[in-house]
Amino acid sequence: MQKLSDRTAGFTDSVIRRMTRISNQYGAVNLSQGFPDFEPPKEILDRLEQVAKEDFHQYSITWGAQNFREALAAKQSPLMGRTIDPNSEIVVTCGSTEAMMAAMMTVANPGDKVIVFSPFYENYGADTILSGAEPIYVPLYPPTFRFDSEELEAAFKQKPKALILCNPSNPCGKVFTYEELSCIADLAKKYDTYVITDEVYEHIVYAPHKHIYISSLPGMWERTICCSSLSKTYSITGWRLGYIIAPPEIIEVAKKVHDFLTVGAAAPLQEAVIPGLQFGQAYYDDLQAKYTHKKELFLKGLDDIGLVHTNPEGAYYVLLDISEFGYESDLQFCEILASKVGVGAVPGSSFFKEPVNNLIRCHFAKKDETLNEALNRLSQIRKKIPAKG
Ligand code: GLN
Repeated sequence: MQKLSDRTAGFTDSVIRRMTRISNQYGAVNLSQGFPDFEPPKEILDRLEQVAKEDFHQYSITWGAQNFREALAAKQSPLMGRTIDPNSEIVVTCGSTEAMMAAMMTVANPGDKVIVFSPFYENYGADTILSGAEPIYVPLYPPTFRFDSEELEAAFKQKPKALILCNPSNPCGKVFTYEELSCIADLAKKYDTYVITDEVYEHIVYAPHKHIYISSLPGMWERTICCSSLSKTYSITGWRLGYIIAPPEIIEVAKKVHDFLTVGAAAPLQEAVIPGLQFGQAYYDDLQAKYTHKKELFLKGLDDIGLVHTNPEGAYYVLLDISEFGYESDLQFCEILASKVGVGAVPGSSFFKEPVNNLIRCHFAKKDETLNEALNRLSQIRKKIPAKG
């Protein structure tokens, strides 16, 4: 038999999604893969029921149903500070996972370099490999996860085609400030580089931090490919609804890539989510209040147990420091955590380019009772996982 493709040899399956399977195997409270265990908004579910009996069962237009794109453009235009054209500036994708992959394939030729901040969401590694691009990693330094502007400029000097910006950031919870975004924007313009954003946590930001779209900075709309999704905003990760927003010349190409990758996102689901896209500000204020409460509940619980952790400015992840347990492999630690303590987490090493193995990632997009159960189990952590050596 001939060997399978070389391009697939460079990465493993997703550790995040593997940890969900391991959590299920041990009946652990799954705080690994980031998705909610609470219901999506009732308005969306009610519409879903109606849609089943209406005429939405065949393909939508490949780059997204007209109704959906119009509702999305109306929602995003005021947020992004410009009038987005639903016909020429949007492609609807199967989640932001496809949006990011399509954006990479739209921009990069094999051998092109792409800047990725580390820690990073693990898909970006595979995205670069699958599109033939080569990542240049630039570290974000804890505890604030700021980058060093000289290190960033050194990366730009290598003539990258694009920079990937996850803002708010998974897994470190960073929300980039205007000043940091300006620095990235100035370098992107100086070195003629595209910026591909992953903004799926755009509505999950903790006061006093604010989400700023880098595409809204002067001269950045032209070179920014905004990727995002409805998964986190409306608690519908299984619906796989994502999108790219960018200038028409870029969207023209992204439409072609998307068309041959997946043809289109699920037509009935695009229709059913429209009441969500039409929600007023109160929905987003409530979402923010809900996640602020969950963050406070979970972080206070960790403090009571005495586990050292990051303090996210946005998104719903927290990195816990497991140095005290003396494990060399954070993957092994997470397996023991799932089997002995009954809590699922993701080993930090799957997010860092640097050899970091003393961090694990938990998320708090769960009902209070689920978080309390996880904290209850974690309170036994030192009894159930004795420190090595
Ligand atoms: N973004 C979520 C996480 O980091 C879910 C990822 C996924 O599996 N698509 O856990």
